[in-house]
Amino acid sequence: MDEILNLHINEMAGIEFDCSCGRRHSFPIRHLHIGPGALLELPDVLKPFLGKKLFVFGDSNTFQAAGERVLKLLAEAGHDFDGFWFQTSENEALIPDESALGRLLMEMGDAELILGVGSGTINDLGKFISRKTGRPHIIVCTAPSMDGYVSDSSALTNAGRKISYPSTLPFAVIADAEILKNAPPRLLQAGFGDVLGKLTALADWRLSKELTGEYYCESCVKLVQKALDAVIQNVDAIRERRDEGIDYLIQALVLTGVAMSLVGVSRPASGAEHMLSHHWEMDFQKRGQFAELHGIKVGVATPVAAELFELLKEEIPAEALALAPSSAECERLLLAVDAPVSPKDVHISRELFQRSLHEAYTIRKRYSILQLAVEKGRMEEIASAMADRIYGKI
Ligand SMILES: [Zn+2]
Ligand SMILES: [Zn+2]
Repeated sequence: MDEILNLHINEMAGIEFDCSCGRRHSFPIRHLHIGPGALLELPDVLKPFLGKKLFVFGDSNTFQAAGERVLKLLAEAGHDFDGFWFQTSENEALIPDESALGRLLMEMGDAELILGVGSGTINDLGKFISRKTGRPHIIVCTAPSMDGYVSDSSALTNAGRKISYPSTLPFAVIADAEILKNAPPRLLQAGFGDVLGKLTALADWRLSKELTGEYYCESCVKLVQKALDAVIQNVDAIRERRDEGIDYLIQALVLTGVAMSLVGVSRPASGAEHMLSHHWEMDFQKRGQFAELHGIKVGVATPVAAELFELLKEEIPAEALALAPSSAECERLLLAVDAPVSPKDVHISRELFQRSLHEAYTIRKRYSILQLAVEKGRMEEIASAMADRIYGKI
């Protein structure tokens, strides 16, 4: 029944099964090719599109990282394709806004397949355009930086505001550790932070099951936990960018997407740590300031959420407490990959930090440790004690 737990991630493409949680789960993506050397699978994945026009896109950085090799593989296989690469410098990020979207629609012409080469931004653009044009898309990943490779929403910038739009799941995801290991350090740290956040996300999901009776899938939780364990045990290999470490990291990022898709909610991937991160992001956005990468903020928020579980342990059912990570351990893991640990490291003010603890639970209707602390009347005291420790007493 739960044989999914024994499958390699690549075997999960197209899976459908009756789960012990009482639901039937399915995962509609056709191909997952995750592993060192995975790029060489691309010609096989593209076979059904021989004779059709392909549109390949990315930016100057992702062209260097993998785009050039992708074009060579397509040419060797005899594909008809157009390529378009946004011009970006090494330190300049492409913004997924109206202008980028318009440019892509103009450049792609009547292509029948969209092939994105990149990470967060390119992936968001590709799956949104796929939704709007009805053309399938494939993503060749260039950084293990976030868990959105397998997700049906895109974070796009509209009139200066970041908004989440419905998108189409990819036809195929290709993630080659030999490419990913060369990603900039900040992107790798962000991916690690996004993975770390699953520790508190899973504890929050269980907390809600126990306190509110919310639907919960034990198999999905075990699936994500298995991938998290592999990342945590291989943190040195990740820091040293060894193939196996990077492969565990991207597997965990993609697998959370698989788990979300199986249960149809983002519970396996997002809890209090994501609400804090979103609250911070909205505040930075209002002031027109860059709010750091998603996974970097989630990483910083994870020991904060973990500490809430520790401080409220008398109020928490044992099943949920058993899933909660230790705050000190989360900090140790972030330090192990040189990622920011303190809210101070990412320019979050004391005022914003305290306010976010009080308000972040209102961002969405999702029960978490934040709401429990507020309901029990403990947040005031906890928020000022945490702020005193992080920012010093005032
Ligand atoms: Zn289930
Ligand atoms: Zn995330």
